[in-house]
Amino acid sequence: MKQTAQRMSRLGTETAFRVLSKAQALESKGIKVIHLEIGEPDFNTPENINKAACKAIDNGFTHYSNSQGILPLRNQIAKYIEKTRDVSVDPARVIVTPGAKPFIFFTALALLEEGDEAIYPNPGFPIYESMINYSGAKAVPIPLREELDFRLDIEELKSLITPRTKLIILNSPENPTGGVLEESDVRIIADLAREHDLYVLSDEVYEYISYNGKPFSIASLPGMLDRTILMNGFSKTYAMTGWRVGYAVVPQHLVDPIVGLIVNSVSCTATFIQQACIEALIGPQDSIITMVTEFEKRRAVMVEGLNTIPGISCCSPKGAFYAFPSVKSLGKSSDYIADYLLNKAGVACLSGTDFGKYGEGYLRLSYANSQDNLREAIRRMKKSLAELT
Ligand code: PLP
Repeated sequence: MKQTAQRMSRLGTETAFRVLSKAQALESKGIKVIHLEIGEPDFNTPENINKAACKAIDNGFTHYSNSQGILPLRNQIAKYIEKTRDVSVDPARVIVTPGAKPFIFFTALALLEEGDEAIYPNPGFPIYESMINYSGAKAVPIPLREELDFRLDIEELKSLITPRTKLIILNSPENPTGGVLEESDVRIIADLAREHDLYVLSDEVYEYISYNGKPFSIASLPGMLDRTILMNGFSKTYAMTGWRVGYAVVPQHLVDPIVGLIVNSVSCTATFIQQACIEALIGPQDSIITMVTEFEKRRAVMVEGLNTIPGISCCSPKGAFYAFPSVKSLGKSSDYIADYLLNKAGVACLSGTDFGKYGEGYLRLSYANSQDNLREAIRRMKKSLAELT
């Protein structure tokens, strides 16, 4: 058999799905596993959005749509970004895709090639590194450290920029650390992007899941929307992970290349789902407050609980729904501890290194689970780690 293309060896993955299948294998043997590995809200999609989708199906919105996304939705997205980022947005620059994730793929394919460099957060969402590598460009990690509350170190960022740097990826609030960039950080990053003529991919999918007020978006700064791919979605905000719908506002000259990639891959986003997204944006927003209020309570249960376990220390994440505790004092690798917890305690979580090499010494635990399950997970972890040799 002939070999697969060489570039496939550069493609990474998201290990959450692999851990999920390991956990399911244990469950098939009758072991009760507490799932803290997958990054999705455990709430139901709000009823008004569900109803809007059903109505759209009944009304025949079941055919292909414009590849860029239907105009009424793009109009609403443009209005939403204008209102929340205080910047004028032409709907012609809004693109809708099945999930926000494809924008990482499309940005890498449209912008990067061999000889380019792209800076990305590490630990960070693994698809950034995977897609930069896949494009043939050099992936340059900017470490996020606990000492800085998992914000990036601006001086270090400056030192990583070279004449070959083309793109900086930002994610605030951040997966997996829960770190949130300060407005002052974002302003300096914008200055650096202007000075060195860089693009910015700003992944803002956790914008609402932020416990100390709304994070500051780089798109709010003068001229930045002309060099920023502002990527956002419905998955986290409206508990719509399975619907697969997201969007971005992109520089005008990237619209055609990205739409070209859509035409060549998925053609368009499901039409009735786009109709339901209009309802998500213009309908009642109280479900977001209910969800975030509950996440905040769970964060307290999780962080306080983790800090009672000898050998574990956890700072309080500022955003998203993940705890990122240090397990360095346990004297084993993060991979080992994550495996141990799954097999000995029936607690599925991810190793920090699933998010890059600077995640060594940490675990990622999603607290998108009931408070009772979180308490039970802590109890099991404490018990099994006491037996760690
Ligand atoms: N960006 C980050 C940082 C994420 O954590 C995720 C999902 O976990 C995504 C993007 C993908 O979101 P979507 O479901 O909209 O594709």
